[in-house]
Amino acid sequence: MLLTIESTCDETAAAVIDDDGRVLGDCVATQETLHEKFQGVVPEIAARAHLERILPVIQTAMQKASVSSADLTAIAVADRPGLAGSLLVGVVAAKTLSLAWDKPLVAINHLHAHLYACQLATPTPVYPCIGLVVSGGHTSLYHCTSPLDLDYLGGTIDDAAGEAFDKVAAMLSLGFPGGPAVSKLAATGNRKAFQFPRSMLNKDNFDFSFSGLKTAVRYAITGPGQTDFSKLEIADDVKADVCASFEAAVVDVLVGKARKAVAKHRVNRLIVGGGVAANGYLREQLQQAATKHGFEVIIAPMDLCTDNAVMGAIALQKIRRGEFADLTLDITPGLQRGF
Ligand code: ATP
Ligand code: MG
Ligand code: FE
Repeated sequence: MLLTIESTCDETAAAVIDDDGRVLGDCVATQETLHEKFQGVVPEIAARAHLERILPVIQTAMQKASVSSADLTAIAVADRPGLAGSLLVGVVAAKTLSLAWDKPLVAINHLHAHLYACQLATPTPVYPCIGLVVSGGHTSLYHCTSPLDLDYLGGTIDDAAGEAFDKVAAMLSLGFPGGPAVSKLAATGNRKAFQFPRSMLNKDNFDFSFSGLKTAVRYAITGPGQTDFSKLEIADDVKADVCASFEAAVVDVLVGKARKAVAKHRVNRLIVGGGVAANGYLREQLQQAATKHGFEVIIAPMDLCTDNAVMGAIALQKIRRGEFADLTLDITPGLQRGF
């Protein structure tokens, strides 16, 4: 029985998972209200909040599962990638419990875990496949032959898709995190109202770029050169059109590139994880593309798209391979492009 800990960004989470991958108890404490007024995650505030929450969150997950430390066989923690201060709280907590309770330690790559959430959606193996991570900090494509064997194909060269959602939401004063709010307004808008760029869609590689799109949205709202959004009065129907057109541009690029990766690598399955995978329009368009082009798409369950500790079940795969960490485990905040 495994205790998993997640603290890579602004969610403090823990779960207890049995050896067959069944979730016995889990707990997620979000910090959205703490970061809302800054319209983005403030690393120092995130780290302090993790510190306050980590033990209660672990305790809650274990209480929900009705287990005590004696029942655990390992402790797993996401050690990469993420905010340094945030990662540190989870890793130090996991190392301390590993030492105090004499349990082996397992290190998890948070991005691999985001993709593993897709495996948790179905009893049949999803690998080999193309994996698309679309989250607050990453937009990456992988060729995956197992949960732990991922070949990086390409990723964003500037902003991540989730980051673009958050920034567009900030421009339109829609709150934080922006994804859900933009998506809700987009549903009532016209996806063709604004012609936003589909950057790099036709480039012969698997990289992405969303910063030009973000600038195009800004100019559509303010006109060139303006930076102060706070005094702008934008009608609700215009906001809806901006959101709908922006969402269409992001989704076109994500679906287009993912589909090309599936074709090029001759797999018949695409898995999609990370916070932006909760986006309704993306889910719908991925399904349509899959039907049209004859591949299968498996998207992480809605409650496992944004950060959680249940996807830490990937640690069972590492245990099976005998891949354990020890008390020298340190955090790795930034990854080489893709890993
Ligand atoms: P990373 O996983 O890269 O370290 P993260 O853990 O902060 O980043 P996640 O928790 O996976 O990111 O996802 C958060 C992101 O998902 C935010 O940018 C948020 O706006 C976005 N998001 C959440 N729900 C939706 C939605 N329905 N539509 C679009 N984006 C969404
Ligand atoms: Mg978050
Ligand atoms: Fe994440």
